[in-house]
Amino acid sequence: MTKVKFFNGEDIPLELHKVRVVQKLHLVPIERRLDAIKEAGFNTFRLSTKDVFLDMLTDSGTNAMSDNQIAAMFQADDAYAGSQSFDKYQQAVEDVLGKKYLLPVHQGRAAENVISKTFIKPGNVIPMNYHFTTALAHILDVGGKIAELLYDDALILKSTNPFKGNIDIDKLEKCIEENGVDNIPFIRMEASTNLIGGQPFSMANLMDVRRVADKYGIMLVLDASLIGENAYLIKQREDAWKENSLADIIKTMTGLADLVYFSARKLSSSRGGGICTNRKELYNKMEALIPLYEGFLTYGGISVREIEAIAVGLRETLDETMISQSPRFIEFVVNELDSKGIPVVTPPGVLGAHVDAGSFCPHIPQTEYPAGALAAAFYLISGVRGMERGTISSVRDENGEEILADAELLRLAIPRRVFTLSQVKYVIDRLEWLYQNRDMIGGLKFTYEPPVLRFFMGGLEPTSDWPSKLMEKIRKDFGDSL
Ligand SMILES: *Cc1c(COP(=O)(O)O)cnc(C)c1O
Repeated sequence: MTKVKFFNGEDIPLELHKVRVVQKLHLVPIERRLDAIKEAGFNTFRLSTKDVFLDMLTDSGTNAMSDNQIAAMFQADDAYAGSQSFDKYQQAVEDVLGKKYLLPVHQGRAAENVISKTFIKPGNVIPMNYHFTTALAHILDVGGKIAELLYDDALILKSTNPFKGNIDIDKLEKCIEENGVDNIPFIRMEASTNLIGGQPFSMANLMDVRRVADKYGIMLVLDASLIGENAYLIKQREDAWKENSLADIIKTMTGLADLVYFSARKLSSSRGGGICTNRKELYNKMEALIPLYEGFLTYGGISVREIEAIAVGLRETLDETMISQSPRFIEFVVNELDSKGIPVVTPPGVLGAHVDAGSFCPHIPQTEYPAGALAAAFYLISGVRGMERGTISSVRDENGEEILADAELLRLAIPRRVFTLSQVKYVIDRLEWLYQNRDMIGGLKFTYEPPVLRFFMGGLEPTSDWPSKLMEKIRKDFGDSL
């Protein structure tokens, strides 16, 4: 049990940790915010944190570390080969994820590179619940294709479906029959499906996927970057698992997969990543790529200090007090926004609150990037940096036409144990103002469009002078206030 009940009936998340190291934030004046977002090409990725108040861009590498993680970093064993820090990492992976063989990689996408290069041939199809940006980029890079097999209702943003990350089993079997087993190197399941709003799958669904994998003799790969939160939501939402510990749930999940990979930036509040398995022959197939792309097999491009932090962080993933903190804050934000009529993805997921920019700004066509525009407008009114997860984060097809995203989302990441409740209330307050003034938000267009993963460094400009007009209105309504 991690929920603390308030006598006055309020349902607010209580911080079950104390803050002992702090970092000063910069809430800069609105005029500066307008200049900063212009300099950043209306892309929040390109803002400097000296102009950012609350950094809600991502949960990647931004979760607060624990005292024990920091302490462990001082004990790191600096060795190119055979580092004892790696032994601790390996032991933690075996204890927490139940896999004996571990390949270290510098971050999650490096695991995707190694897995894609090892197992995917041109023309292969990878069935999955839903793609993640870097997973897709690596699959396309080696000539593969993806088949996204969520249930039809998973993309309904306002919903009560507790497990929108489930794969539709009928679609999965159909996909396998149509493409042929030989064309499908593996099925990919992503825990807490990131791009549809951090939505979990159920254990029952993962078990069904395993049955299909066994029936056809296809490998099952689990992206476990957000497995702790998915396990927590299984415990919350799936009756059969209510009484189980997170340790049980996580091990059961990983036990159903042949290959598990993760970004330690998400999983354990540190850096790095890993690929693990109990099947030695799979390990052997990938092994040679680690020294080629990452580093020696006992560090994989991760500093030994970070390796120590991963080992401790992995074990802390089993602590419900720790793992519930971010989902509880997200639940609070989502419920507050929803009660004010502001369109937001429900049920609350993990890693952040996801505002439905399509419904927030129905007057902006998808080709003018409503989610990107909302991210820029929200930065202007709040100094808070969110991330566009919509068509800018998508790609163009072979003819150069936009592939319009299934959803236009403004993601406000809420990393573990980083923000306080009053900061989160400020976010809700500013979003409420923006919602009342939403007609003033206009579209964006690219001025610089990189060919791969364009959302990271792309530059845009407004399709009209709406940002200056919005700034004037903010000044009028908020006076001298920051
Ligand atoms: C972040 C993330 C990745 C990529 O990890 P990086 O460490 O950022 O390279 C892969 N899959 C999922 C589900 C993620 O959330």
